[in-house]
Amino acid sequence: MKRRGSKFSMPEGYCVKCKAKKEIAEAVEVTTKNGRKAIKGRCPTCGTVMYKILGGKATPQSAPPTPAPASEPAKPPAAS
Ligand SMILES: [Zn+2]
Repeated sequence: MKRRGSKFSMPEGYCVKCKAKKEIAEAVEVTTKNGRKAIKGRCPTCGTVMYKILGGKATPQSAPPTPAPASEPAKPPAAS
């Protein structure tokens, strides 16, 4: 089974203007401020800008996999 397109499958998004799911034209991958990946493109029918949040973690730089030990003392406030 093979999808349309060579290696990049057309992402789908919801166009609020057409009120329907559309393939996102001119899709580009962007990273949001939260470090999440998203697809930004346009509706092929009406040209409305569409976003599709990809949900996956782009850069796992926070939330370490190992939890901190419970006996860890609290950090003392930095005195000036
Ligand atoms: Zn549209």
